[in-house]
Amino acid sequence: MAVTQCPVTDRERPWICWLRRWPLFNQSRLLICFVGAAIGGVVLLLAAAATVTPVRTEEITTFAALVLGAGLCVEAMRRLGPPSGLTRDLLGAWWFPTVLLLPPMYSLLVPIPVYVLLQLRIRRTVVHRRVFNAASVALSGFVSSLLFHAVLADGLYPALVLSQQSVATSLVDGPGVLLALLCCAVFTVLNTGIMAVAVHVSAVHSSWNRLLWDREAVMIDGVELCVGITVAILSALSALFLLIALPPVLLLQRSLLFQQLQTAARTDPKTGLLNAATWEYVAEAELSRAVQDQRSAAVLIIDIDHFKRVNDTYGHLFGDHVLLSVASTLTHQLRSSDTLGRFGGEEFVALLPGADTAEACRAAERLRSRVGRMGMRAGDSGVSVTISVGVALLSVHGQDLVGLLAAADLAVYRAKDNGRNRVCLPVTGPSTIPGQRSGGGEELQKSGHPPSLYEP
Ligand code: GH3
Ligand code: MG
Ligand code: MG
Repeated sequence: MAVTQCPVTDRERPWICWLRRWPLFNQSRLLICFVGAAIGGVVLLLAAAATVTPVRTEEITTFAALVLGAGLCVEAMRRLGPPSGLTRDLLGAWWFPTVLLLPPMYSLLVPIPVYVLLQLRIRRTVVHRRVFNAASVALSGFVSSLLFHAVLADGLYPALVLSQQSVATSLVDGPGVLLALLCCAVFTVLNTGIMAVAVHVSAVHSSWNRLLWDREAVMIDGVELCVGITVAILSALSALFLLIALPPVLLLQRSLLFQQLQTAARTDPKTGLLNAATWEYVAEAELSRAVQDQRSAAVLIIDIDHFKRVNDTYGHLFGDHVLLSVASTLTHQLRSSDTLGRFGGEEFVALLPGADTAEACRAAERLRSRVGRMGMRAGDSGVSVTISVGVALLSVHGQDLVGLLAAADLAVYRAKDNGRNRVCLPVTGPSTIPGQRSGGGEELQKSGHPPSLYEP
């Protein structure tokens, strides 16, 4: 937990000091309000639902069985070692049966023991984040459960007291399953939306598109939904059938975690790009294909200028945000056939199959100009960064990946020596870069937004 020094003026108010020690209270006011509203909402709804929900042994038994199933999944996750930044855990297999079979109050309760287990057994993370995640599942579960039960019972109050027995009969009917699908989809949309809003208002700078639309995540959500409804139907038939559902759920969860571990091992966690080792592996294969087919290819090394100053002035967290923004701009400016990776520190590397000198320089120039135009905010001040790009061509500057990387690295040095914020090839000479003005770049560097050495 981050320890905040207490200012002298607050010494006579120890509770303010105590609050400031919580990481949540070091977040933006908007985020504190949002997290507070979600948690407060769950507490209020739980208090209200508890006063009307009848206590029935059969429902408590089903609830305990579902919590046990989720607990076993958490334990299985612990054995495999979950990847950091785990996004999909298939716990929906246990949320959905609770949403569908049990009165809505149980949807507010079910995340509590499961998230306590996640915190204690998997990874201790910032408490407010865990509590907020649990609150998001609870709220989404409550709303979708209320919707499902209200349609079945024809009213909001009857929805709160409808027994598991009556729901189970409707669920195994055809239309009941369709309604279940719809309500579980509502759960997924709500949960994703609540989490996306929280991420968006927190210090992490992410675009809505990136937060809400990820094809892989949507596919996994679909699988989770189907698994959850299957588990719900099995539990509706008999709680004992949960024993049959457990092994396939564990197996699916295992393969999902394995896939995420694999992805985590291939990518750089800060930017989501390929890490250096994987990029080299992919680029090596791509280059040998180009050599075999006698096609051209280019390697670009992209280095952010004076990045240390960004860190020194605005802090490392903002530096990380700049890295992510640059990575995202580069990704959008390259073709899908190009391979982009984070080479290390503030350096990126790209392989452009099929690109000749003119094309590679044009692409590099596009990257330089787009990154230079990126506007970022650090508090009240606007921040912009520039990049220097070294370009090396297959068969011209190197015959293999090692040779091309060495040549592109030399070209970056040239770009830095010539004043930064420019695209360079490894060797000097006015005709080296198509369209380049003769006389080099030094004198072009004087204006506020200097042009690159390369001009189309
Ligand atoms: P130049 O224009 O010559 O490239 O100068 P520079 O400051 O960009 O290069 P230098 O090699 O002096 O500094 C690179 C800085 O990048 C130093 C290091 O702290 C920072 N850095 C490396 N990796 C990360 C990271 O993951 N996050 C942040 N925030 N900073 C990083
Ligand atoms: Mg560098
Ligand atoms: Mg640099």
